[in-house]
Amino acid sequence: MDTKTSQSHIFFFPYLSHGHIIPVIDMAKLFASKGIKTTIVSTPHNLSLFSKAIERSRVSGFEIGVLAIKFPAVEVGLPEGCQSAHMVKKYEDLQKFLKATAMLEQPLEQLIKQHRPNCLVADIYFPWATGVAARFGIPRLVFHGTNFISQSVSHHLMKMDLTQVSDSEPLLIPNLPHEFKIPGNQIPEFMKQESELKRFGQSAAESERSSYGVIVNSFYEIEPAYADHYRNVLGIKAWHIGPTFLCHKEIEDKAQRGLANSIDGHECQKWLDSKKPSSVIYVSFGSMVKFDDAQLMEIALGLEASGQQFIWVVKKDEKNDHESNEDWLPEGFEKRVEGRGLVIRGWAPQVQILEHVAVGGFVTHCGWNSTLEAVSAGVPMVTWPAFADQFHNEKLVTQILGIGVGVGVSNWARFGGEKVKSETIEKVVKQIMVGEEAEEMRSRAKKLGEVARKSVVEGGSSYNDLNGLIAELGILPLLPTLN
Ligand code: UDP
Repeated sequence: MDTKTSQSHIFFFPYLSHGHIIPVIDMAKLFASKGIKTTIVSTPHNLSLFSKAIERSRVSGFEIGVLAIKFPAVEVGLPEGCQSAHMVKKYEDLQKFLKATAMLEQPLEQLIKQHRPNCLVADIYFPWATGVAARFGIPRLVFHGTNFISQSVSHHLMKMDLTQVSDSEPLLIPNLPHEFKIPGNQIPEFMKQESELKRFGQSAAESERSSYGVIVNSFYEIEPAYADHYRNVLGIKAWHIGPTFLCHKEIEDKAQRGLANSIDGHECQKWLDSKKPSSVIYVSFGSMVKFDDAQLMEIALGLEASGQQFIWVVKKDEKNDHESNEDWLPEGFEKRVEGRGLVIRGWAPQVQILEHVAVGGFVTHCGWNSTLEAVSAGVPMVTWPAFADQFHNEKLVTQILGIGVGVGVSNWARFGGEKVKSETIEKVVKQIMVGEEAEEMRSRAKKLGEVARKSVVEGGSSYNDLNGLIAELGILPLLPTLN
């Protein structure tokens, strides 16, 4: 690519899910802090959900634009408002959703024609984006929202015959740095046979290989063997520039980086300020995993029986008017746990909570953003994965890094998640919060958190990779940098 003397301009085009859009906004801020003009392309609905987060990122004078393209939900048979992956409730709709995302190719092409960015960072869920960028002679970088370990496993899985995989005989993934065995029930059914979703996964993997390279929201020291494997064995060019959320320095920026919070950030801070260090467990399952009332009831009972202080974030689908929205709470629960337990219904300022000194554990579905946020905050985890990369992230946390205990689920479940009884929840919550083993995990987590923070400051592995990427693209910083 030619070195540009005018200001460079990157288009960011994230997948339509909160877990992909949030780190991309962080990433846009990071590149903007290096003097590069950035533009986030998304649907009007998603841009409006995150308008506050984008606005705050602009406050420091960083150039972050937005451009909207219409999402053809109705055209593919989805309800008008269905513009984000967390709103998809069944496989049939997932296929329609992916069909609608494929229809974004033309409008994206139009925007590139009009605005002439000199680089396109597009999500792995848009395999066709490599072709679009090629038509304009600009590099397409991939962002997949996950880490090296999970992408390495996926690339191997994609090439293996999965038709005979059983639950009782785990499948050994060959040539990985650790022994990696995956039971059949952790592989989605659509991967075990020819299917539209499998073909989509294969075309995404191919476009990852044929793109200019991959931006990974991770840092070298958390998965060195897999960063090397991905680059040197799988031969995919990649730069790790994370944890990207660490670009936020102010508490207000951390609190506002997602959707509008369902609790006032100051109120939450005050509640945590009144607690002793490492005495509160935070319980949250990201933006996509939602449990039914029976499972929520088990979580409530388990938290109560554990005797631990907690913040529990509950996300539920809208119910009909005649149905009560509170059937999932045991009678008198909030009264009984008053002062020691806080239930947040909706969206929580997660980074602000995890970074508070009072938080000493995290029950998580192991979404990569949540995992990285907990690692950076030095908080050990109870792992309760459901789907996507979450089982691989669990393995990293519990078996490789030794900073978590599993709740004991093993079934891949895109909708609903595997059930866990209150007695098990009580046991693992105590295990991560009290005792010698808990202290050891916390101490390891804190050390890793320090390494994570160092990786993004001058001389750190992610800092260097970001600068290396910018230099390679020939993008010149024109404004003062953040650090
Ligand atoms: N998040 C948040 N508040 C919530 C739920 C989620 O701030 O109540 C943020 C969380 O900090 C993370 C992202 O949303 O950055 C969720 O991404 P993750 O990869 O953990 O899970 P996903 O939602 O994609 O399953």
